[in-house]
Amino acid sequence: MALCPNCSAAIAVTAGACANCKAEFGANAAWHPLPQSAAEQDELARLQSARPKEPARPDAQGTLLLVLVMELFGLLPWYLVAGISGTASNHSAKDFFFMGPIWVYPVLILICTPLAFQFNAEGRISTATKVVLAPLMISGGWVVVIMAAFLVLSLASVV
Ligand SMILES: [Zn+2]
Repeated sequence: MALCPNCSAAIAVTAGACANCKAEFGANAAWHPLPQSAAEQDELARLQSARPKEPARPDAQGTLLLVLVMELFGLLPWYLVAGISGTASNHSAKDFFFMGPIWVYPVLILICTPLAFQFNAEGRISTATKVVLAPLMISGGWVVVIMAAFLVLSLASVV
């Protein structure tokens, strides 16, 4: 029999826990039953090499933080464009159409960032990355679409 490293009770070298003091010897535990013979020593070594190591979880926390910082910096130009235009007193439906996706940018950040970190915690990295990028894609993408449309329209009027 092997000995419990905690209370020295005699236990099997393969025991997952000590029946006497409840000490646990799981795959990631720092201690294990103390072998009392060469055979037990061998068995313990075999047991430990056979145990699958817990796979490292993929983690995009650094990427998420980087995107978040970028988006927060984006609030400055956003404020200059949307903040000022948003203070005008009466908005037409056209204003809401053109500016709506831009006005909601900070709200999108507030909604998407916690969601992204939640997905990241669940190990759903690609979803987390897409979600954290959503405010940039939606609001920034809309700006590009509008500018492209105006460019095409003004070119058309020149020709
Ligand atoms: Zn014990």
